Amino acid sequence: MNTTKVTVWNEFRHEKQNGKVQAIYPGGIHGAIAEALNRNPDIEARTATLDEPEHGLTEAVLDQTDVLFWWGHMAHGEVSDTVVERVQKRVLEGMGLIVLHSGHFSKIFRRLMGTNCSLSWRENDDKERLWNLQPGHPITEGIGRYLEIPRHEMYGERFDIPEPEKLIFISWYSGGEVFRSGCTWQRGHGKIFYFSPGHETYPVFHDPQIQRILLNAARWARPTVRIVDACPMVEPVEPSR
Ligand code: ZN
Repeated sequence: MNTTKVTVWNEFRHEKQNGKVQAIYPGGIHGAIAEALNRNPDIEARTATLDEPEHGLTEAVLDQTDVLFWWGHMAHGEVSDTVVERVQKRVLEGMGLIVLHSGHFSKIFRRLMGTNCSLSWRENDDKERLWNLQPGHPITEGIGRYLEIPRHEMYGERFDIPEPEKLIFISWYSGGEVFRSGCTWQRGHGKIFYFSPGHETYPVFHDPQIQRILLNAARWARPTVRIVDACPMVEPVEPSR
C-alpha cells in the first residue's frame, strides 16, 4: 500500500480567540482534519501552524509532504513570502495542494492562480447544496448526486479564478447564489484542488461526507512525479547534421 504523507496547515488564530470556534474545534481545524484523515491506514497526516518557526513548513517537513492542506483567513498577510515561494516551488515539482474555504485569499493560492481570487460572501446561515458534477472523478468517490450543509457562510460568484481544468462541485445557496465550490488545476507537476466549505463557526469538518471528500482529494493529489526544474542544454539524440 502506498502511504500518502499529508501536512495540514492552519493559521490557528480563530480557535485561540473565539470561544465559539474553540468549542467546535478544541484541537484546531488542523487537528480535526488530520484526525479524520488518519483514520485511513493509507494516510499519514501531520499538522503545521502559522506561529511555529517557518510556519511549520521547513524544507525538511516539505520533503516529507506529498499533499499539503491549507486553511487560512485572518492572517494571510503574516505568511512569509519565503515560505510561499518554497511551497510554490514544491507544487511545481509535484506536491499536491488542497486549498480550503477562506484560503481562496491566501498568498499561495493567489500566486498559483495568478488572479485576484475574490468572491462575494455573506454570513447569514444559508443552506448550501453542493452538486456533484463529476460522479466518475476520484474526488467524488462515495459521494451521491449532491450533499448539503444545513447552515453555512455563503460564498458566491463571481469567483475570480482562472477557468478550472475540472469543475467538480457547484454550490447553490438558499439566498439564491451559486458558486464553483470544487475546482481543480495543475501547476507544473502539482495537482491543486480548491474546496470552499469550512467556515470556522460551523462544524463542517466534522461532517463525514466532507471528510470523505478531503480523503479522496488527498489520494487524488498525491504526486506521480517529483521533478526539480532545470533548463538544460542537451546533446541531440541523433546526429543533427
Ligand atoms: Zn469563512
